[in-house]
Amino acid sequence: MKNVLLKSISLIILAVIMTVSFVACQTDVTPQPTEAPATEAPTEVPTEIPVTPMEQILAELATLQFGEIKNVILYIGDGMGQNHVPATDAITGGRYDGKLAFEYLPNTAIVKTVCTEGEPDSASGGTALSTGYKGKRKQLGLNNKGEEVQNVVELAKSLGKSTGAITSESIVDATPAAFTIHSKDRSDESKIAQLQIENSVCDIIMGGGKAKYDELFARNEKDYNAYFSENNITYTAKWDDVLAWNGQGRLIATMTDDYWYFDRDMTPTLAEMTEQTIKVLSQNEKGFFLMVEGGALDEVAHNTNLMEVARHMTAFDKAIEVGLRYAYENKDTIIIVTADHNTGGLLPKAEADEYIEKHQKDNYISNDEWCWTNTGIHCVLEGERIAQEDNPDVDWSTLPYRFTTIAHTSDDVNVWAIGPGTAELMTTEKLASFHIGKFIGKALSGSEFGSTDSKGVK
Ligand SMILES: [Zn+2]
Repeated sequence: MKNVLLKSISLIILAVIMTVSFVACQTDVTPQPTEAPATEAPTEVPTEIPVTPMEQILAELATLQFGEIKNVILYIGDGMGQNHVPATDAITGGRYDGKLAFEYLPNTAIVKTVCTEGEPDSASGGTALSTGYKGKRKQLGLNNKGEEVQNVVELAKSLGKSTGAITSESIVDATPAAFTIHSKDRSDESKIAQLQIENSVCDIIMGGGKAKYDELFARNEKDYNAYFSENNITYTAKWDDVLAWNGQGRLIATMTDDYWYFDRDMTPTLAEMTEQTIKVLSQNEKGFFLMVEGGALDEVAHNTNLMEVARHMTAFDKAIEVGLRYAYENKDTIIIVTADHNTGGLLPKAEADEYIEKHQKDNYISNDEWCWTNTGIHCVLEGERIAQEDNPDVDWSTLPYRFTTIAHTSDDVNVWAIGPGTAELMTTEKLASFHIGKFIGKALSGSEFGSTDSKGVK
């Protein structure tokens, strides 16, 4: 175990060094539909978020006094089941006294992830968090009857606040889509790109997803260059353009084709994106709502690659740390960390071994055709074999946790939070993910938001 730990630490250090050196030599690949307007000087240089030592912030978290609510930052670990956290601590040794920073958030509860049928996916999970309604699988920003319902980004905009949705996944993937558009079909991703351009009110949408935007542009149905300048939208795939953006109009940035591979030196990091987005959004005196997704977490859990999960959990925690530094200085800010569903049914190794032994011969064919058609144990074993091949320095048999499926499960997840009203949220009876969506809407507006019945349907 000690050996694994040392190796993981050196891998992480190596990844950090490589990421830093990669920034200097990154080149962009394709021409952009539009560039950030260079004519206007930035309205205001974004204020840096002070760097108070994290140990000091974490030590004071439980006793901080908060005031009126102005901002909400919601962090979603895609597929982050309850064991993702202790597994990361066991593999990496944690970041602050054996733990991740967000484990120090004082208000916590167990959350039921919801869906009107079957295991929740990121569409139903994201919709519950973004609208306060229990929705159907695959559907984005719609209630159970398939009707469009207001999401928290639209609510925040109607109140004059600024808004953002950023991810280490593709921005057309279900979680960011549930916060930015409404659609019956999460799988039509170039349509989602079109809706994000033409229908969304979200000020900053940022992450991967360049391939789907390119697909939309290649259809030549519209002169998007003209559309972008007419509608004051900056679209870019360059991080430098994001840093240079003057904050006028909307920004859509897709800095990779799909999702972030931290072992492939991808930049910017989720923490860098979070910091830049908060700097811009916080210029608005009326406040902001920001959703930050550790989106790539889901991909690596589907792949049963526990080392990658630990790396992405660490990256996610670093992004949360940025929000915590902001909330520490601005005590009108709520921070919520949760998950949309559980991916992979991660268990402590002995329990997982027993489960896998017992279900070895199961060859369960799932009806979940959008993603994985076959969720038998042999898929877990194959995932582990590939993960072992990709991580030759790690002896997979010594890892302290193990996945038991490559699919989603309906297991409960956790929520951690800080800020005004968040202690009361935790006392909600049978806390389900749509309650968190309702809570955010009420925190932003002061009025009831989302579903009005106890089941989250009506
Ligand atoms: Zn998934």
